[in-house]
Amino acid sequence: MDLFRKIPKHEDARIAIEMGFYPYFIPISGEQGPTLEINGKNMIMLGSNNYLGLTNHPEVKESAKKAIEKYGVGCTGSRFLNGTLDIHVELEEKLADFMGMESALIFSTGFQTNLGTISSMMTKDDFILSDSFNHASIIDGCRIAKGNSIIYKHNDLESLKAAFNSIPEKAGTLVATDGLFSMEGDFARLPEIIKMAKEHDSRVMVDDAHAIGVYGKRGRGTTEHFGVEADIIMGTFSKSLASIGGFVASTEEVIFHLKHSARPLIFSASPPPAAIATVSKALDIVMEEPERRSELMKNAEYFRNSLKKMGYNIGLSESQIIPVIVGDLMETVGLWKSLYDYDVFTNPVLYPATPPERSLIRNSIMSTHSMEDLDQALETYEKIGRDMGII
Ligand code: PMP
Repeated sequence: MDLFRKIPKHEDARIAIEMGFYPYFIPISGEQGPTLEINGKNMIMLGSNNYLGLTNHPEVKESAKKAIEKYGVGCTGSRFLNGTLDIHVELEEKLADFMGMESALIFSTGFQTNLGTISSMMTKDDFILSDSFNHASIIDGCRIAKGNSIIYKHNDLESLKAAFNSIPEKAGTLVATDGLFSMEGDFARLPEIIKMAKEHDSRVMVDDAHAIGVYGKRGRGTTEHFGVEADIIMGTFSKSLASIGGFVASTEEVIFHLKHSARPLIFSASPPPAAIATVSKALDIVMEEPERRSELMKNAEYFRNSLKKMGYNIGLSESQIIPVIVGDLMETVGLWKSLYDYDVFTNPVLYPATPPERSLIRNSIMSTHSMEDLDQALETYEKIGRDMGII
């Protein structure tokens, strides 16, 4: 049978496109700040991971332009071979220093960082314990790793303990968890997880994609926020650091091993000069302007409290990631579409990306949102929520 005849039809997506209810792949026609332009329409942006507003910071843009002038636009090869520029190495040193770790390694995306790190760290006798709400890249990293994986219930210490107790004594173990969960906006219970891991002679890896630059006194992320230390921390450049790429920080021994074993690093081209220069400058600003973090915290708290007061279910959120949990898939799409029609850009997250009956609208707040931006979005939420009977 012809393989192409087996391709799923994705009828729901086709119907949604026909009815004008399709929320994905929407072309944006300019910069993504606290507001953005789509089809000539100015909208409030609540769907970006540009938490510190650095994607259009003049100094960051200038740094990218200078890198293009000096190095050109691409590396055309893997870090392993011809794709390592001096600025890759300098940024790795800067990241290691920033994170307070011995060493760091840059990958071309955060997704590849997780795939490469997890699969390289596990041998066939080892176990990885993974939170059920972890990002897809951790899940896929576990899938391609040679070891065994056990999924424990989201942030549930009893479930984690049961997982530890089921592992043979000689196995090496790694607990992998998002530091700040990307859909629900809640923190991993890192102090308890790290303590339990130590008791079981296990290592801990934190995916801090959404917390690097945002949490902790210096912006190191969730470990600094909680005052604890993890064995491996990964981050991405695609959120606060305003670009694309990812990194992992750990001991020199771990990083040296990853450099010689992580297939998504060795067999994929390195991030281009403009991306590296962007991150380098963005990191300087993260270090020099802590007020961006406090602005973000203030905005996020205001938005969370206001939605809660209106009667929305914001789930477990305690951060700049604020879900509105609607539950029913069609009702969630309906809410997204109404917000969109009233010029508020959000991201619907639907089953199977969420558990069934937990479809949600994901809002993410930026330090550069003005009170007017937030109030305009909140007024819209209030009006539509009442009209639809959600609140
Ligand atoms: N980890 C988490 C928690 C994420 O949310 C993401 C991106 N959404 C990634 C990893 C992958 O990052 P990237 O976009 O750099 O591939």
